[in-house]
Amino acid sequence: MSKPTELAVWTVRSTQRGSDHYGACEVCGKECSEHFVATKRRVWVRDDGQHYLDGGISGGTFGHMHCLIQRFGNLVSQDSLQRDGNVLLFPQWAVDNLVGGHGGKLGMAHGQTADNYVAWQEQQLLAARDS
Ligand SMILES: [Zn+2]
Repeated sequence: MSKPTELAVWTVRSTQRGSDHYGACEVCGKECSEHFVATKRRVWVRDDGQHYLDGGISGGTFGHMHCLIQRFGNLVSQDSLQRDGNVLLFPQWAVDNLVGGHGGKLGMAHGQTADNYVAWQEQQLLAARDS
């Protein structure tokens, strides 16, 4: 058994494709050499305390990484999360980060970002892309 929490996060991943495939950035409308997709997901918790993310509330927004961060605030690198079957596991420290920082609550105003968290995620993304 599992149940939804009050928390939601935006995940992000690279599509490995640019404007030739996806057209212009959905945020700024400019050409984009590498499209990222941001998806809002609700955080669920299992009886054993393990948190995980659902399949996404929206279909996702495509565009530049910096545009997505500007619009949505905190983005969690999808590649940095472990999977269990087809669900993305969400570690306890990340839950603590969400609860302790600004934002993360459903219905939060855009722009309430925890800057350190975004910076950390960017590092994770860069590391993932370089490897
Ligand atoms: Zn853009």
